[in-house]
Amino acid sequence: PPLYIQRYYFVAEVMKKHNVESVIDFGCSECKLAPFLKQVPSIQQVALVDIDMICLEMSTFRIKPVLYDFLEKRLKPLTVEIFCGSAADMDSRLMDFEAISMIELIEHLYPDTLEAVRENVFGHHQPRLVVITTPNADFNQLFPGFKGFRHADHKFEWTREQFQSWCDYTADTWGYDVNYTGVGEAPEGFTHLGLCSQAAIFQRKVEHTCKQEKSIGSECYKKIAQSN
Ligand code: SAM
Repeated sequence: PPLYIQRYYFVAEVMKKHNVESVIDFGCSECKLAPFLKQVPSIQQVALVDIDMICLEMSTFRIKPVLYDFLEKRLKPLTVEIFCGSAADMDSRLMDFEAISMIELIEHLYPDTLEAVRENVFGHHQPRLVVITTPNADFNQLFPGFKGFRHADHKFEWTREQFQSWCDYTADTWGYDVNYTGVGEAPEGFTHLGLCSQAAIFQRKVEHTCKQEKSIGSECYKKIAQSN
């Protein structure tokens, strides 16, 4: 499958492995991760969040039940909601979600927003699991005639070393363990360049350290749709 689909499989697989019941997908864009999360038996609550209202409004069909859902009923009920808002802000309705995914989001953020998103995700939400994917700049030399970035809106693309040093610092600061992986294998002879999309999986070491701080949020997101 294409790389973006491989990322959805990958994230859904991580959620499954960690027996996640509730997940926020920040930077959900066209809500394409939703059908993959629906395949994870443990998941009961999904919140899809993006700042692009128009994109979200055009994507609400993706969370509607399909025929297959009536044939093959889930053992646990599932609610999928779509919200318009920023990953830098805490909406109190999403405060206690167990996991957060950010697929190809961070490279679209200017430094101050990236910092605010990191603070919100790890400092305020403090979920027990965070999965981040971003392009691996080491891999770019494999694209013929490659210059600049993979996408015009990217503010940066990090080498594995840059990404891992940002993630190591994040994990150290907020009390997480982090592991590195990714998707999209290099052709034979180029595997030293790593994978096309790099990924970090963060697991919280301890219980929430500052529950009080978590209660600062209000309902600052705009709810766009709900699956049931
Ligand atoms: N995760 C999507 C997927 O895998 O299909 C792709 C993400 S797309 C490359 C980046 C998205 O991030 C865009 O839809 C953009 O609107 C969104 N975005 C940018 N800044 C954001 C922010 N501060 N909070 C939430 N979403 C943001």
